[in-house]
Amino acid sequence: MTQFTPRTFQINDHVIGFYYGRGLTGFSGYEHITDNWVNKGAWDLGIANYVVYSGDSALVFDTSTSPECGLWLRNFLNRQLKIKHITIALSHWHLDHIAGLSAFRDCQIFALDSTAALIEQNREAIENGNLWGPPGIPTVMPTHTFSNDLDVKIGDITIQLRHYQIHSRDGLAMFILADQAMYPGDMLEDTLSYIVEPGDIPAHLSELSRLQQSASDRIFPSHGSLARLADGGYNSSLIAAAIEYNQNMLRQAQCANFTDMTIEDMLPQALKTGAIAIWENYRSVHRENLSRVYEYWYNRKIP
Ligand SMILES: [Zn+2]
Repeated sequence: MTQFTPRTFQINDHVIGFYYGRGLTGFSGYEHITDNWVNKGAWDLGIANYVVYSGDSALVFDTSTSPECGLWLRNFLNRQLKIKHITIALSHWHLDHIAGLSAFRDCQIFALDSTAALIEQNREAIENGNLWGPPGIPTVMPTHTFSNDLDVKIGDITIQLRHYQIHSRDGLAMFILADQAMYPGDMLEDTLSYIVEPGDIPAHLSELSRLQQSASDRIFPSHGSLARLADGGYNSSLIAAAIEYNQNMLRQAQCANFTDMTIEDMLPQALKTGAIAIWENYRSVHRENLSRVYEYWYNRKIP
């Protein structure tokens, strides 16, 4: 198992993380395709997924970022952890989170109704590599869908899956109350999240305040620094950082120099407190965010 080997980090005796990217894990195998989304959207930013396990059962929260990485994970679970029963849960439908699904076709796959609908709607483009550009990946449909909340048990560990409309309309966060831990998918990121649904920023902001009430001390986003994830995760200042970013992006969308504004302009507080740190590859994510937010909000009334 030398190729596609992630950095693994043990969060406690029943949760393990798998991390790719930020120059720590070699090649994704897609480097020959310029601007491919596996590198641009995941390996360049760093990406983790998480597995909760007990005895021979496991819940896999997101399936990693390419079919090859998904297969590596499947083999690791079966061979190293001796897992026989695997349930998948998807944080949202974006490709860097569902790309490993093909290795888990025979498993139960839990997802929001909206996640399943979005995969179905985009199925052809995902498979052909026309949605975010290449590579195309196989799609696998969720087997059990729900509209808002679902509780799942793995051994005696209770896992809460909860819908928040943050980052994507089909956002699903995983909570393990016994650990005071939250796994928010892409609702929170270090450095910042892609804004792909700019018209929904007001909704994202009110949902972020609701997320603040969940009072989780340990936060494990999908995209962040391996050192911090492996050292107990982020704290609730990561939620404040997401609020600061979205608030500033919205408030300043009609300023004359908006599209020149930097990450430092949008996140002064979070950078000062160390809630987040700038990972340079996020500069291009931020530039794309500026143009999407500008395009949507420059001639609309900002709430
Ligand atoms: Zn992502």
